Amino acid sequence: MEFTTKTIPVEKTSASRLAQVDFNNLSFGGVFTDHMFICEYKNGAWQDARVIPYGPLSLEPAAKVFHYGQEVFEGMKAYKDAEGKIWLFRPLENQRRLNRSAARLAIPEVPEAIFMEGLKTLLQVDSDWIPTQAGSSLYIRPFIFASGTGFHASPSDAYTFIIACAPSGAYFSGEVSVRIEETYSRAANGGVGYAKAGGNYAGQFYPTKLAQEAGFQQVVWTDDHTHEYIEEAGAMNIFIRIGDTLLTSPTSDRILDGITRKSILTLAEAEGIPTEVRKIKVSELVEASRQGTLLEMFGAGTAAVVSPISSFGYRDQVYTLPKPEKSYAAYIKERITDIQYNRAEDPFGWRYPVGN
Ligand SMILES: *Cc1c(COP(=O)(O)O)cnc(C)c1O
Repeated sequence: MEFTTKTIPVEKTSASRLAQVDFNNLSFGGVFTDHMFICEYKNGAWQDARVIPYGPLSLEPAAKVFHYGQEVFEGMKAYKDAEGKIWLFRPLENQRRLNRSAARLAIPEVPEAIFMEGLKTLLQVDSDWIPTQAGSSLYIRPFIFASGTGFHASPSDAYTFIIACAPSGAYFSGEVSVRIEETYSRAANGGVGYAKAGGNYAGQFYPTKLAQEAGFQQVVWTDDHTHEYIEEAGAMNIFIRIGDTLLTSPTSDRILDGITRKSILTLAEAEGIPTEVRKIKVSELVEASRQGTLLEMFGAGTAAVVSPISSFGYRDQVYTLPKPEKSYAAYIKERITDIQYNRAEDPFGWRYPVGN
């Protein structure tokens, strides 16, 4: 079967929940649209692609996802411009990364046509759910999990691919303070850190809880071997501004190759902001802070876009970041969101129209 927005069957809900949603007070990822896209992998092929009402699934207790965590996901957003047109941001990057994650978890890859046509069909059906309030967008969560059964620790023979959406406001309210972690690790060489695999996040909850109890909001991970180098945050890549230079760590087995991260690097280079992609020692950060050359730190990811960091804790010290008037974070965030919401030219070809 060919997958297009014209051939994917749509079963519409008889009870829309749209009127119950307060679009002026949206949290992040807490309410879900009326429909979802679903497709199943059976007998060696993806099949039965359809859009159906959003709702509970029926799974056996022996489904392998419950026992071995065989699951990968993506995070993306849809934006509505002033004319009501719908846009995605570099969606094929998400599609390819989902498949890189899937390959690492021994999950069958989802063909591009199923991903893209399924997504577009869903967005057209739920288009009234895409918020237009400033700073709001439709957060999109594609994910694949092992729905086949068995207690044997081996890959499933059946999988489910779902795309669900949540109209969302800001991910963080206000500034973010982080703790640089030296005890726990998020990822290791040869592991699954570069994949958006569910288990990577479950493993962060406990250390993050400890950091929160100590007064921080997020953890910044260091390399698992020496804990001397900055890696990334729980769901964001990290940028550091020392003097006029914007620094970020190179991606690796352990660091997720963020689409926001690479967009920021491209944008900064085009705007003449000096960038360096290299390993960054925590001691360099501390030293720059003492000398007053550490001007900014921010997280970068689809959910939080660009999220300024107000302070970082390291060992028993808290280092506060200055608030430069012309911050890179504010400038870059505006440039990226202007492209995402179709408020500015898109010289890089990042915007992707959905049935406009
Ligand atoms: C999703 C994610 C990011 C950000 O990636 P984007 O493609 O920019 O959304 C960064 N780090 C981790 C660990 C992530 O899961």
